[in-house]
Amino acid sequence: MAERQFFRFLPPAGDPIPFNDILRAALDSSLGDGGQFAAILRSYLATNHCYLVSSGTAALHLILRAISDETERNEVVIPAYCCPSLVASTVKAGLKVRLCDIRRNGFGFDLERLGELLNPRTLCVVVVHLFGIPHDMKPIMDMVTRAGAITVEDSAQAFGVSPDAAKLGTIGDIGFYSFGRGKPLTMLGGAAIVTNRTDCAEKIEKYLAELPKNPLFVNVSSLAKVTLYSLFVHPYLYWIPNSLPFLRLGETKFVSQFETRSMCRYQAALGKILVFLSDSLNQGRARNSRFLIERLTHCTDNPSFFIPGDDFPIPYLRLPVILVSPNLRERILSELVGKGIGATRMYGVALPRIAGVSPHLFEVAEYPNAEYIAARLLTLPVNSLVTQKDVETVIGVFENVSESGKNG
Ligand SMILES: *Cc1c(COP(=O)(O)O)cnc(C)c1O
Repeated sequence: MAERQFFRFLPPAGDPIPFNDILRAALDSSLGDGGQFAAILRSYLATNHCYLVSSGTAALHLILRAISDETERNEVVIPAYCCPSLVASTVKAGLKVRLCDIRRNGFGFDLERLGELLNPRTLCVVVVHLFGIPHDMKPIMDMVTRAGAITVEDSAQAFGVSPDAAKLGTIGDIGFYSFGRGKPLTMLGGAAIVTNRTDCAEKIEKYLAELPKNPLFVNVSSLAKVTLYSLFVHPYLYWIPNSLPFLRLGETKFVSQFETRSMCRYQAALGKILVFLSDSLNQGRARNSRFLIERLTHCTDNPSFFIPGDDFPIPYLRLPVILVSPNLRERILSELVGKGIGATRMYGVALPRIAGVSPHLFEVAEYPNAEYIAARLLTLPVNSLVTQKDVETVIGVFENVSESGKNG
């Protein structure tokens, strides 16, 4: 068993980018094309304004700078379990991070805690649709609007997801998407900001105009990255980058410094082609998720886990499984990884415990639900590389571990 992972390892998230699209985008961008990506996104997402930047981190940073311009408000509320780059975006804009605990049954805000946090200095609340799980926006937006603040939708993991008529990211006042590695639609970098509010759009445009131009090598290195990624994301090659310690593929590191640039022309040209794959990628993830959920819920009489989300067929970016105990999580995780399945702990710990984050926080309180989830969360791959055999492997591990749990 142990040797298997050196030959086949299923990545936790990510889908290959077709090589003919990679080449076509190179040709298009060298001919000066790619300019229509923002317009295509506007129509795909049904939103009035769309702006392309270099990363999701840069997108939120730019949004925060733009909306904090002419106001004394300086507090940004983010969930206590989420991507640490939200802290970097906020701190670099000179604003204060206020963490809000999440619910015990998922990743959404604990609305009671949110109500206590909102105050006249609240600039905005960042709703994070983690794994593509849609949050009920209405109650949050009502509270935020009443507090005179702005709702920002972090849809980095939810591109193209639409539980109702509107797509996630376009419901709040401002939203953003990331096209980085491991996101629903990847170009190994780049991001989009969207809004239907003209006043917000005007403020954002002012900052966009100041962004530095991309030199040619940014496009060339983007093309090189996309090509290598598309090759090495395949399970029979993925073990190579996965075993190179300097790539640190599995880790979430907090990086306080980042650049804010516009999206490079190569990524825009590639995005223009790939956006039409988004729906079928999401449908594939929804199908794989549903199948895995059905198999998992039938594999033991006494379920030792729950899966956040509701009836809507969610195209989970990775399937989040919350085990009953941290110990069980660790046992299942190591079994799966040993069998070549890219299961992960996601961020591993609540936001204040990610190395390097706490000095940037303006207050640290108790976040019991974020801690609870962080210690028990396991993610399972549901990307387009998952095979029937992988599903059987996952089910086998869950069955085995629950059995051995019973006996001892
Ligand atoms: C990846 C991610 C970001 C940051 O996007 P980058 O493009 O990697 O900078 C922000 N929020 C969430 C939830 C993410 O998953």
